[in-house]
Amino acid sequence: MNMPVPTPAEVRLPPALNFIDGQWVDDSAAARIEVRDPATAQVIGEIPCSTPAAVDQAVQAARRAFDNPTWRDLSPLARERLIHRFADRLEADAENIARIESLDNGKPLMFSSMLDVPYSVSWLRYFAGWPSKLHGKSITPAIQGSQHLAYTLREPVGVVGLIVPWNFPLVLAVWKLAPALAAGCTIVLKPAEQTPFSALRLAQLADEAGIPKGVFNVVLGDGATTGQAIVDHPGIQKISFTGSTPVGKRILGSVARDLKRVTLELGGKSPTVILPDADLATAIPGAAQAVFVNSGQICFAGTRLFAPRKVFDQVLDGIAGVGASFKIGPGLESDTMLGPVISERQAESVMSKMQAGIKAGAGVHSGGKRLSRDGYFIEPTILVTEDAQNPAYREELFGPVLTATPYDDLDQLAAMANDSDYGLGAHIYTRDLSAAHQLARKIQAGTIWVNTQLAPDPAIPFGGFKQSGWGRENGEDVFAHYLENKSVIVNIGN
Ligand code: NAD
Repeated sequence: MNMPVPTPAEVRLPPALNFIDGQWVDDSAAARIEVRDPATAQVIGEIPCSTPAAVDQAVQAARRAFDNPTWRDLSPLARERLIHRFADRLEADAENIARIESLDNGKPLMFSSMLDVPYSVSWLRYFAGWPSKLHGKSITPAIQGSQHLAYTLREPVGVVGLIVPWNFPLVLAVWKLAPALAAGCTIVLKPAEQTPFSALRLAQLADEAGIPKGVFNVVLGDGATTGQAIVDHPGIQKISFTGSTPVGKRILGSVARDLKRVTLELGGKSPTVILPDADLATAIPGAAQAVFVNSGQICFAGTRLFAPRKVFDQVLDGIAGVGASFKIGPGLESDTMLGPVISERQAESVMSKMQAGIKAGAGVHSGGKRLSRDGYFIEPTILVTEDAQNPAYREELFGPVLTATPYDDLDQLAAMANDSDYGLGAHIYTRDLSAAHQLARKIQAGTIWVNTQLAPDPAIPFGGFKQSGWGRENGEDVFAHYLENKSVIVNIGN
């Protein structure tokens, strides 16, 4: 692929400051957090760990913007035009923001420029189409009948707190802010402390596109101080959180105090199920991509593989071959297919969870090592176990690690796939249409992919069963979280 390759020093990062009310604002009272390039472990910036006072400043700005007629009373078509203009600005900035994302997160430039940025533009465009289609209903009252006129209004919930993780900093910010803008909400966004820069660039682009000041604010900081201050702020009406299940549970406890609306997109341990009749030429690269892309740091990555015993070795050798063909390196090198994991802490966590699985009896089919070079690189790894209690089988590792299990009995397959606390996604490979649909009904997961993998879409609801979350993002369903339904009942009888 012929792509210009910048050095880290050539990537133009936005100021490492909060973006509040259309201004760059420092939080001088805040401690500082170093941001590192995961490919080299070098410090690339320092952000404030914003205090509750800075969060309050952002919430006040968002509240003023919410009450401001320039945003509140915007016609649906004008709102659509504005979000399209924002998408245009993002599209025009594609090369720059893809570089920012690859430096900050470590992901290959070919993915950030061919997936993350175009996906984010598509999300904005899809949601730009919604404002003129959001409306209430006229209802015939069941008791009063024609004596009463009843209808519903759909009103934005208010100021929303959006908290996102580091694995898809740009995409996940846009997943949340696009429907929030379409609904007419105003935003306080906190990116992950490891990957703050694409969200800041996004806020700059929104401002350039003419989104009114204060509508989209970004506050930088960690979870314990800044994230918690957002979750606890009484001026925020709704929290949308993507991150780990333990933090999601904690947030649920916090929002209960003032009954904030909440959406939680949490962890996963998604199965990839290969049926005996599957086309292995599709299933093998599909299963490999499902677990190794983004260095396995995808919440719906296919991290548990189930394959028929008689083709098990062939499937594993094939997946390992695909993994080995991925060139490992810094995201900013043009031929890199597999970047580093996000941090030293994450690399240590993946390696220690892998070791715990091996110690508990899992075999190593391939990989299993951290590369001895700067940065946080881990080989694509396949572990083999038939023990559903093995920690590598049960826990989310969030790295390029597949746990593979052979099966003999097709009737046990749904139960094996469902034997997890999580229920975010599942991948099924088969040529048998009725088997695919039957299994899709039995598997407890928010999204089932058949003969494809890792393909979310702005029009299709996304979210988790069980401990993978609460609520759905994307598609029309997401507006249930950003709009209140108000009923108006009028006596029109004599
Ligand atoms: P994390 O939960 O540690 O952090 C996520 C975000 O929450 C960060 O911005 C962090 O600063 C913030 N945070 C942490 N503690 C907080 C608190 N007490 N209050 C408010 N905010 C707080 O998760 P992570 O390790 O950064 O991300 C990886 C996890 O995210 C994985 O479990 C992965 O499966 C999950 N994830 C889920 C989805 C999904 O759509 N379901 C998508 C991507 C990632």
